[in-house]
Formats: sequence, C-alpha cells, structure tokens
Amino acid sequence: MSNKKQRLFQELIKDSKDPKLIKKAYQFAEKAHRNQKRASGDDFIIHPLRTAICLKKAKLCPTTIAAGLLHDVPDDTAVTDEEIKKEFGKEIALLVEGVSKLGKIKYHGVERQAENFRKLFLAMAEDVRVIFIKLCDRLHNLKSLNYLRPDKAKRIALETIEIYAPLAYRLGIGEIKGRLEDFAFPYAFPDEYKKLLPKVKDKYKKRENYLKKLVPIIKQELKKEEIKPIQIDSRAKHYYSLYQKLKRYNDDLDKIYDLVALRIIVKNVEDCYKTLGIIHKIWKPLPGRTKDYIARPKPNGYRSLHTSISCMDNKIIEIQIRTPQMHKEAEFGIAAHWYYSEQKGLKTYIKRLVSKPPERNLYWLKQLREWQEETKKFSPDRYLESLKIDFFGQRVFVFTPKGDIIDLPKNACPVDFAYAIHTEVGNHCQEAKVNGKIARLNQELNSGDLVEIITNKKRTPSRDWLDFVKTSLAKIRIKKWFSPTEQTEKKVSLPKILSFIPIPVKKEKKLKEEKALKKGSVSLAGEKGMLTNIAKCCLPQPGDKIIGYVTKSKGATIHKIDCSNLKRLKEKWPQKIIKATWD
Ligand code: MN
Repeated sequence: MSNKKQRLFQELIKDSKDPKLIKKAYQFAEKAHRNQKRASGDDFIIHPLRTAICLKKAKLCPTTIAAGLLHDVPDDTAVTDEEIKKEFGKEIALLVEGVSKLGKIKYHGVERQAENFRKLFLAMAEDVRVIFIKLCDRLHNLKSLNYLRPDKAKRIALETIEIYAPLAYRLGIGEIKGRLEDFAFPYAFPDEYKKLLPKVKDKYKKRENYLKKLVPIIKQELKKEEIKPIQIDSRAKHYYSLYQKLKRYNDDLDKIYDLVALRIIVKNVEDCYKTLGIIHKIWKPLPGRTKDYIARPKPNGYRSLHTSISCMDNKIIEIQIRTPQMHKEAEFGIAAHWYYSEQKGLKTYIKRLVSKPPERNLYWLKQLREWQEETKKFSPDRYLESLKIDFFGQRVFVFTPKGDIIDLPKNACPVDFAYAIHTEVGNHCQEAKVNGKIARLNQELNSGDLVEIITNKKRTPSRDWLDFVKTSLAKIRIKKWFSPTEQTEKKVSLPKILSFIPIPVKKEKKLKEEKALKKGSVSLAGEKGMLTNIAKCCLPQPGDKIIGYVTKSKGATIHKIDCSNLKRLKEKWPQKIIKATWD
C-alpha cells in the first residue's frame, strides 16, 4: 500500500516546477488523512494524489496542484481552513475553500436545473482553477463507483453527465469531458450501455485496422508536397458521445463516420490547409462535411479542420487536421492557453476570459459572436438561457429550502427571491432566513445562499421595497398590489411617485382596516382626493405652508414646510417629497 503512495508521489513530483511546495502539501495532506480509507480499501491519500496528478497532466500550476492535494483536508479531517491559510498562504487556502464550497452544492437530478447548476458552479468558483480541481476530483471518484450502493452510484453518474461533463466542455477540456462521461455512462444508463458495447467493440477494432492502412499513403503524398506531419494517429470516439450521436442517427452505426477518426498534426495553420487539399486530391470529400473550425472555432474555443472522405472500398472516414497548439487546447482547454503563454499567468488569463464583461474582452467577444451564429436556430428562450452563462458574473444563484435553484440578478434581495417563487409569497413575505439566520428583507444575496421566506397572511407589501428590489418582476408585482386595476395604472397624468399612492375610492376595504388613514382636504401636486394624513410632529393647520412626504402605506404625510423632521426626511429621500396645498 505504501508502495502505491510512494509511486504516485514520485510521478507527481517528477519535473515539477515547485517540488518543495508539492512535497510540503503532500506531507501535510498525508498526515491529516492518515488512517482514513477509501470505499475501495485504499489509503485515503491515494485520492488527493490522483486528483493532483490529473491536474498536473492538465498542465495546471503548482499552486493548483498543491490545492488539489489538500482539497479534502478541511472537510474530512480536524484541520481548519485557517491552518491551511497559515501553512500555505491565502491563494491556496482560497482554492481549497472554493472546492469544498462546491462540494456542498446539492444536486437533485432535475433536468431543467442542469443549466442553472453549471452557471452556479461558474459563479461560485471565482477562480476557475477551483473547477479544474473539482473536475479532477470527480474523475477519480468515478473510478470507485462500483464500491457504492447502486442508487448512490447512479446519482453521482447522472450528476457527472449533466453538470460536470458539460462544464468541462464549456471550459474546452475535451479530454476530461470524454473521460467523465465514459466513466459515468455504465452507471447512469446501465441498460443502454450494455446494449451498445457489444455492437461497437468489434467495429472499433476493424476501423482502427483500416485506418492504419491509410497512414503510409497519406505520409507519402504529404512528402511530395514537403509537409512533414508531426503525428498521425487514430482516436476512437468516446462511448457516451457515440451513444448520444447514435440517438440522432436512428441507431445506424454505419452513418457514424467518426467512430474512429484519423488525426493528423502538422506544424502550422498553413500546413493544415495544405494537408486538407492534399487529402481531397487523393480521396473525394463528402459534400457539406468539411468543417473549418480554424476559421470559425467552436464556442468553447475548439479549433481543427474536419473532413469526411470516401476512401478505399468506398468506406467513409473522418480526418481531423490541426497544429500541436490546437491539439493541446482541445485536450486541456483554457489551461493550455496558459501553458503556452506562461508570462501572463493562468490567473490573468482566466480572469480575462471569464470574469470581465465581454465588451472588454475581444477574445471572449469573438467566441460569443460565433456562438450567436450557432445558436441562431434556438428558440428565443433557449438562446437567452444559453447566452446568460456569459453574464453569470451579473447573476446570483440561490437555493430554495427544497434545493431548487433560483437565478437572480446581482444584488438581489429576499423580496426578489420571494416574488420569484410566487406572487403570494412575495405579497405576504414577513421575514427571511438566509443560511438559517434571520436576514433583513433588503439584504444582498450571494450565490449558494439558502433562502427561506416566512410568510404571514396579514403582512402586505411595503412601498419601501421598491427602493431595493432588483428584479422587474418584483417591481411590477409590488406596484400591481398598490394599484390592482388597469385603470389606476393608466392614470399617467399623475407624477410618477403619486401613482403608487392608493386612491381611496378603489381601496375602501383597506381603509376600514387601517383607521390611521383618512382622506385629507389637501391636494397633492394639484390632484384632489389623494390619501393624506397630518404629521403629528408639526400638526399643520389650514393656511400653513405645507409639503407632503410619501409614506409606505398611509399615503402622503403633510408637514409644515419648516418642520425639522421633514428636513431630515428630505435629505434622506428627496424623491419622496411632494408638493401639497390646502383645498
Ligand atoms: Mn475529493
């Protein structure tokens, strides 16, 4: 057992750019997890070691790798976040904390929530390196699914396919996406997997052998044009993505041309196009099947040339042509960008790519434009949904007590949340609890917060809410409560603020309930019959110079123009001051 630990550690530290840090993190984690076992019977430390090796393979920096080694320490041992911070500094501590934060998100398997979950992940992981750690963590956890109860294994597998794999794809890490899906597939859809496997196993082998015969022909033709391929190999399609594609092609395996594709890697873009031309000279391309992802990369940044050709014996095969840089990017996504332009640092790169608004980020904008092109056929709803992910920085994602996710604009508050749940919940919301603690109704919500609304049938909306709610839904509902009929809404001649004041005739019932309200003999901004009451602080008499202050439920309070109380109110809420005259 300890041999395995040692062997993995050696693999991890080999050629490391910061062996001291890696060793320190390893020893720290090893000590913290000592005597803990995995479901597989392995020492626990094997798991963080595997996670760290995965991060190393994905070309992430030593800081991330160290955080990968430590990722389960705060959750599973007595060591606190503080101690990690003291020992390894703020950056690593934040990464570790981020990973354990993501681990606490509950997945309820509701399909419509999948997109929100992905956005939640992105929003919560302020540093995308956190998601890399989480993905590598998940990848290794999938390998021990067979030790878990079938229902638990299935839940984890589905969560992987619906949340983690699309996230990996979104970040352009094709390699990890394919592996996540293939590990999860047999547990998520066992029957489908059993059906597919025997059908394709044989085919994969046959295709591979067939492609091998093509390699010398291609090499020879390229040589004539003085192109030296760096690598020609075949790649088999991942099982899960094949399963997905088969569903679209009526299960007809013969229509899947890229079951096994031939991959040619050449030194630069020019050679890519030249190679494509040479291939098309030898074998006829299928019309409409040549795809130039170099000129038009996929939204996740994938670049390559793809073509399907009709080969020897009329067999159709797919060929992919790309440069080594494009190849790395396809495997490791944004991490590869960092790898190739190290001076910028991963953090800066990712920040530019992920957190800045698109207009300040040309690369992102370019991607977005491509994406818009691709999503043109989507329904407006779906388009908006998929576009939103780019603005996730402007959104917060909070949980209902049942675990559903509500997507709100940044700075939204419990009242927004209440109206997002239901108008009635909003109209009668009395109190809010955020993460179990009583919160102000105007408290700013953060992604991942669990929000609970306590309603009271007697409680009704307050006009003050309009000052702090962020969603237009809440605004509309609150206004509607105060002027329920269309007629009152249409009374546009009133100054804007007046339209929020209930007009007594329409609210007779309410008037009876609230004795404090009385119809004044005062006009507000020239309008008669508005709801007013006399301020108790200065008790203005007819003839006094007066001014109105709009309150949340009693209409306008009439003050003397020189009232000191009013002065204070005026400074604070000048927008609530309204002209008033005696009738
Ligand atoms: Mn873990």
